[in-house]
Amino acid sequence: LDSGVKLVRNVGRYNIGASSLGELHGLLARLRTEASQKGEPAYAIFLVDRYFKPDSTTGDRLAFRSGDALKFIDTTDEPTTDEIDSLVAALLQEGYTKPVAVVGMGGGITMDTAKAVSNLLTNGGKAAQYQGWDLVKLPGIFKVGIPTISGTGAEATRTCVMTNPASGLKLGMNSDFTVFDHVIMDPELTATVPRDQYFYTGMDAYIHCIEALAGSYRNAIGDAYSRETINLCRQVFLEDDMQTPANRERLMVASYLGGCAIATSYVGLVHPLSAGLSVVLGVHHCVGNCIVMRAMADYYPAAYDEFWQMAERQRVSVPEGICRNLDDATYKALYDASTMHQKPLTNALGENYKAILTLEKVTDLFRKM
Ligand code: NAD
Ligand code: ZN
Repeated sequence: LDSGVKLVRNVGRYNIGASSLGELHGLLARLRTEASQKGEPAYAIFLVDRYFKPDSTTGDRLAFRSGDALKFIDTTDEPTTDEIDSLVAALLQEGYTKPVAVVGMGGGITMDTAKAVSNLLTNGGKAAQYQGWDLVKLPGIFKVGIPTISGTGAEATRTCVMTNPASGLKLGMNSDFTVFDHVIMDPELTATVPRDQYFYTGMDAYIHCIEALAGSYRNAIGDAYSRETINLCRQVFLEDDMQTPANRERLMVASYLGGCAIATSYVGLVHPLSAGLSVVLGVHHCVGNCIVMRAMADYYPAAYDEFWQMAERQRVSVPEGICRNLDDATYKALYDASTMHQKPLTNALGENYKAILTLEKVTDLFRKM
């Protein structure tokens, strides 16, 4: 791991609080006016989680104007580089080449899609070209992120996770240019999230931070963000009802701070194993992390106990037994897809992590899930 001081870029501006979605109107009006004054087109692109589609008021709430593009994002599967490329191609073909903003409203899938589309509209080429670190050369289109479910921290980070179907590589565009220019955090938007999903995604914030604090790659700011994220998660998930208005606001803050924490640090063992589940079995990121927690008693003992206490308190069930009876080839594929994540595994277990995570050991961990 790089031992020096990590350079960190934060979100440009943000609004936080109930009804802050209304701030989008003024923000877009300013961007549209600036563009018009320069003689440039004043349309915006809206990428919205398809959950909001049947709600005919979505357009009004989003300051949508005729001439804007509104696309609903399917969340059945996590984003692939091919899907991002098709979306960009469709937008370009419809003439949306130079919008004033790309607004992404939804969960991690939709926000990551918005980040990637924004970068590709100015940088050109294909999504897969930018999977890695600091490969994006130009600032993207002005990016606005509006989370509607809390936990991943995608609203705060400098990446947008995508899977390349050809290579199986699950990696984002890690770049300063991937950070949102403006984030609107309105806890009213998370009222409709189904309970199980609310828990799975919320626990991503908790897991990011227990992994960061247990790692060897640490810094004072990251630690402070992580500690407060964990505090907020305890308040939310050890209370009777995790989804009260006050708890939805707490979790929205935890998600943002957890994203800031992980942007200055690395995850640990949970995320690589969860990435294995995702690449090999198509399990979504957040529920995948929760499944991995079944096997974490020896690695994160205190967090393991607390995690299951929270799940019990919220009466949420985490899928079980999904890797119990797989064939050897599938265990090998899970092993390969997990142990390739060198940075977080070095952070968690040291340089010689491969000596600890043998095929036998990793197979054993997956069998526990
Ligand atoms: P998601 O986008 O996967 O959505 C989860 C489900 O919740 C979907 O069915 C969605 O339609 C629904 N939903 C969202 N908001 C809702 C609302 N207000 N009411 C009802 N339903 C709602 O959500 P997620 O768990 O936030 O995101 C997971 C994705 O985030 C993965 O693709 C993962 O790779 C990515 N991720 C990104 C980062 C990053 O830093 N960029 C970090 C962690 C995870
Ligand atoms: Zn995560």
